[in-house]
Amino acid sequence: MSTDSLTAARPFVVALWVGGAEVTRVEVSDLHTAYSTLAELLEQSPGEASGAWAVASGWPEAISLVVRFRPGVVGERQRVAHIITLAPGQWHTWALTTLCGRSLLVGEVEFLQPGQGMPCMPCFLRSRPFDEQLGVARA
Ligand SMILES: [Zn+2]
Repeated sequence: MSTDSLTAARPFVVALWVGGAEVTRVEVSDLHTAYSTLAELLEQSPGEASGAWAVASGWPEAISLVVRFRPGVVGERQRVAHIITLAPGQWHTWALTTLCGRSLLVGEVEFLQPGQGMPCMPCFLRSRPFDEQLGVARA
């Protein structure tokens, strides 16, 4: 899948629940928008509301993204590029789990283009589907 078709489509959903019932569901094109939409919805909602975002359960494949800590959050040597894989239908809130098992807070990371940054080797060694998404030829 190319990056162009990802940005044209709306693979992400943001949902809000009050008292266990879903009250809002919004489809968005990217993760940044998913977070800002979730934050906005929660801000406008009563205290008992809860929210989350996911890759839509009907989306045909998992979506992989490259993330690293923003400058200043950790030392430069720890700012390696991790990979996260988001399975369709799996709800998330403010943390992302990398392929190497780290839990990163959304507010502490920046999103990179594939190939940017110094790769986290454990993540990249586990990222075969990511190679396929990029159209990288495999041996
Ligand atoms: Zn990693």
